[in-house]
Amino acid sequence: MEHIQSFFSLTRLNSFGIDVKAKYFCKANAIDNILSVLDWQQKQQTPLLVLGGGSNVLFTKDFDGLVLQNALKGITLEKEDDTYYYVKAMAGENWHEFVCYCVEQQYQGIENLSLIPGNVGASPMQNIGAYGVEIKDVFESLEAIHVQDKHIQVFQHADCQFGYRDSIFKNALRNQYIILSVTFKLRKQPIYNTSYGNIEQALEQMKVTTPDMASIAKAVIQIRQQKLPDPKVLGNAGSFFKNPIIPDQLFEAIKLKYPQIPGFPISQTNTTKVPAAWLIEQAGFKGFRLGDVGCYPLQPLVLVNYGNASGEAIYAFSSNIIERVAKEFNIELEREVNIY
Ligand SMILES: Cc1cc2nc3c(=O)[nH]c(=O)nc-3n(C[C@H](O)[C@H](O)[C@H](O)COP(=O)(O)OP(=O)(O)OC[C@H]3O[C@@H](n4cnc5c(N)ncnc54)[C@H](O)[C@@H]3O)c2cc1C
Repeated sequence: MEHIQSFFSLTRLNSFGIDVKAKYFCKANAIDNILSVLDWQQKQQTPLLVLGGGSNVLFTKDFDGLVLQNALKGITLEKEDDTYYYVKAMAGENWHEFVCYCVEQQYQGIENLSLIPGNVGASPMQNIGAYGVEIKDVFESLEAIHVQDKHIQVFQHADCQFGYRDSIFKNALRNQYIILSVTFKLRKQPIYNTSYGNIEQALEQMKVTTPDMASIAKAVIQIRQQKLPDPKVLGNAGSFFKNPIIPDQLFEAIKLKYPQIPGFPISQTNTTKVPAAWLIEQAGFKGFRLGDVGCYPLQPLVLVNYGNASGEAIYAFSSNIIERVAKEFNIELEREVNIY
């Protein structure tokens, strides 16, 4: 039986650095550990929370149950064909280290996702994405264990219902599975994606004329380091809100008052994606700080903990933003971060 600790501090296990405790805590580094801990948790009838790197959660209170940190490790090349390598990574592998490993091995397709904090196991949860690439573009399958009956199930791409920062694991199957491993389908022949954000500009500055996986990863890392706060220095969970997708009609109506509103039409849906950062800035929150909570001055979509903010204070701050944006634009911002 794994070692279960009581009243365990989660401060160092969440990137906001919120000072909360778990009633019970266990770090599992083998599937057998997970099974025995689930037995224990069911006997205790205590709630369960699975944690990876804690970089997409906001704790607003102590967790009155068991926090299970998934620390399964291992990366294996499962198979290859003419076009792809099929690479399986266990859930507890650090995401960025996994990306670096793939770049080294010349497994192509996730270099644009460099430096995203967190672990592999959480990557399908919200279909992580950045710089024009999402997990769904390279996802082959995943293995997960059902928390109630403990069977292990394989989910193929179509089973996961990936969407923008979304999957079935955030919806119909929320809290029902623990992801054990993810298999990625990575190209042998590169198709680089440098058109998004400032990647081309960064490559130019680096004097790279023929980009490769390593130089693209380096460019993405540089851009991210300039734009986003390092959670080790300033607590945060990346983008706090999703970019809203609104009916074209509403977009046109807003445009009458705000002709400069940026928007990205989504083909064949009569909807447009609007940058939440722009809406938040217009609502007056860019760089705004209240006590130890604030909008990061360089990127208002990122809420930061300047020191000893409580999770409740950050949550209240986010509610205030939602209210003000709704009032001004009639758009309901949705939180991307998981609230506990
Ligand atoms: C500075 C910064 C920048 C970021 N940039 C990006 C970005 O560019 N793109 C992006 O998409 N995200 C970004 N994020 C958000 C975050 O990095 C990702 O969502 C990441 O995948 C979270 O991984 P994690 O292991 O930390 O998950 P956690 O925060 O530990 O968990 C997130 C959710 O997934 C669940 N979960 C975790 N592991 C498992 C598992 N094995 N099985 C079942 N459920 C599980 C948890 O219960 C929780 O609900 C950023 C965050 C930060 C701090």
